[in-house]
Amino acid sequence: MRNALSVDVEEWFQVGAFENTIDRADWDGLESRVSANTGQVLDLFAEAGVKATFFTLGWVAARHGALMRRIVAEGHELASHGWDHARVFTLTADGFRDDLRRARAALEDAGGVAVTGYRAPSFSIDARTPWAHPVLAEEGYAYSSSVAPIAHDHYGWAESPIAAHRPVAGADFIELPITTIRVAGRSMTTGGGFFRLLPTRMTDQAVESVNTRAGRPGVFYFHPWEVDPGQPRVRGAPLKSRVRHYARLGAMAGKLRHLVRRHQWDRVDAVVAREAVRLG
Ligand SMILES: [Zn+2]
Repeated sequence: MRNALSVDVEEWFQVGAFENTIDRADWDGLESRVSANTGQVLDLFAEAGVKATFFTLGWVAARHGALMRRIVAEGHELASHGWDHARVFTLTADGFRDDLRRARAALEDAGGVAVTGYRAPSFSIDARTPWAHPVLAEEGYAYSSSVAPIAHDHYGWAESPIAAHRPVAGADFIELPITTIRVAGRSMTTGGGFFRLLPTRMTDQAVESVNTRAGRPGVFYFHPWEVDPGQPRVRGAPLKSRVRHYARLGAMAGKLRHLVRRHQWDRVDAVVAREAVRLG
């Protein structure tokens, strides 16, 4: 079974962990590392012969056209991660629509392809945003992979279905939630810090379990900054945020090489198309 491989393309400073430490107004003055980091990810995927989806911020697409063209040229899906990482539950429905349109225009201009997939920053579509899926369907998106069906300290929608589903009545639009696993009685997402901080075999087992026991594709994600041990260190951020952000960055590339070879992977749009057939 082919699982969904996804990368959330953002700079090292555009993360929830630092939102109260780094001022949005200072972004353009900070060292850009997204192009080099994402290039390393593209090299790794090319070596392994896998295709993936790159959910990219419009802010990044507007500044890194060559990177967007490389993503497309190498056969990967270019999709939206919103404009500047504003979490959906901080926006109004109209503000969300504006964010989607601005991001898509930048991505489509830079990549020269239609953008039909979306991932909310920090999995921020939840019980507070009942308008979000309808707005995405109205805007012509085919799918979203924006829900973490768990209870977590800063994200999650525990009541949401764990499998692909059609959240908008009368629309073909599909939500493909991130895969979750239970560890020590707590549900966690299979990707990001979970993958980087814990033994790789735990993610291997999660993917195998969802494939063989549940008969569903797994959905895995990570960020380009996670393969970059040389990124500048942010002082003044909360200790918990710094531990989560910086731990085991040097191990990440090796762990990814293992994971992409160990399972079968595909672009998210291709996985969603197969799930749509299964849903009927
Ligand atoms: Zn993100």
